[in-house]
Amino acid sequence: MKRCFWFLVGSQCLYGDDVLKTVDSRAAEMSAYLNSVAGLPNELIYKGTAKSNREISEVIRAANYDKSCAGIITWCHTFSPSKMWINGLANLQKPYCHLATQYNRDIPNEEIDMDFMNLNQAAHGDREHGFIAARLRIPRKVIAGYWKDARVIDKLSSWMRAAVGVAVSRELKVMRFGDNMREVAVTEGDKIEVQAKLGWQVNTWAVGDLVKEMGNVTDTEINALMTEYKSKYDIATDNIESIRYQAREEIAMEKMLKREGCMAFSNTFQDLYGMEQLPGLASQHLMSKGYGYGGEGDWKVAAMTAIMKAMGKDGNGASAFMEDYTYHLEDGNEYSLGAHMLEVCPSLAADKPRIETHHLGIGMNEKDPARLVFEGKAGPAIVVSLVDMGGRLRLICQDIECIKPILDMPNLPVARVMWRPMPDLITGVECWITAGGAHHTVLSYDVSAEMMKDFANMLGVEFVHINKNTTVEALEEKLMISDLVWKLK
Ligand code: MN
Repeated sequence: MKRCFWFLVGSQCLYGDDVLKTVDSRAAEMSAYLNSVAGLPNELIYKGTAKSNREISEVIRAANYDKSCAGIITWCHTFSPSKMWINGLANLQKPYCHLATQYNRDIPNEEIDMDFMNLNQAAHGDREHGFIAARLRIPRKVIAGYWKDARVIDKLSSWMRAAVGVAVSRELKVMRFGDNMREVAVTEGDKIEVQAKLGWQVNTWAVGDLVKEMGNVTDTEINALMTEYKSKYDIATDNIESIRYQAREEIAMEKMLKREGCMAFSNTFQDLYGMEQLPGLASQHLMSKGYGYGGEGDWKVAAMTAIMKAMGKDGNGASAFMEDYTYHLEDGNEYSLGAHMLEVCPSLAADKPRIETHHLGIGMNEKDPARLVFEGKAGPAIVVSLVDMGGRLRLICQDIECIKPILDMPNLPVARVMWRPMPDLITGVECWITAGGAHHTVLSYDVSAEMMKDFANMLGVEFVHINKNTTVEALEEKLMISDLVWKLK
């Protein structure tokens, strides 16, 4: 679906028609510039100048009901008395950004007089507008600065991506094959809470239904997918039957996902009843198409993967299900090595992935599963984990620096990513564990920590950011205060 944002400009009738006409044409000019020249990720549609309680209430009601509208952006060119906004804003159900900008960049020395001041009083109007959102405790993002400034455009683009994440979240369906891995705690969670707070519909389907669907996949369908595999990946195995089996699994899973409208799925190696292989290549290739995935029944990370992929570049960015596996603890050269048993999304790959087949001892694999093997890209990234604290959800985000792995690890049969967590590995791990972050995460190269903070804020979820400035002491204090705050909410 093409998602857009609505631009509402605040004013009032006090100024007369000429001023309102000027406001109207400038607002249209600004949205046209932001769409065409600035290249926002989503279209900004100017919805008119709001001058009365009735107009504001109507446009916000329409925004709530418009499926393509992912949020509203407001700005006050002139003064717009905010009691006019109360009834509308009190009912707003979409993400909300207050752009505190100004049509002119500079104060014109000769031209400025009282007429100029009355027309160009955003410095004044945006304060009145900001007060009412603060007074009503409405979650919103405030972005200040000149509207053609690159920093403002970047902030607006980033906020739009977060809001797209919210829209995707509210419609998300997750298909579970099998339950969570036995005895594991952090992958559990309250499905009612996530549906009420985040919109996720998380339900289960029998592995037997999938096996039946796999039985109906034709050779022609498998041949077509094999051609696609060959075009995207290097085949580094003679075990073609194993690759064909993964193709069968992928086709069957995608049919079921499409039929049910699900964009995320989980499975577990403990329940592969009737299957010869844990889906490896199958899950990896589905992820490359934008589906979220979580291993060991981890439906929370599956959902977050789908959402963060949709928030990224062109609606399917470099975000992937990831797991911290093992550390390199050489003094001053510490790194975390991330991978999974099989299922790492090729959107992270530095080079063309290879299809390999290897024995997998964990689970009920009768045959060696095919999987994509590659190294992850170098560069700044984040890892994100959503945990259920009992009564509330906590979203933990850590800044990381990915590197080309310092070892080539020739006998490691899975895709791998190596990184240094911020502020350093040791402190970073202490912080992550203190906050209760999971071993499963979503690793992303193109979703930022600020987007995740905005996403959490829009949905009323606690947000913890571990970055280059974080200390264990400060984090412990923040978490203690958070516990109190969230008990009061
Ligand atoms: Mn795992």
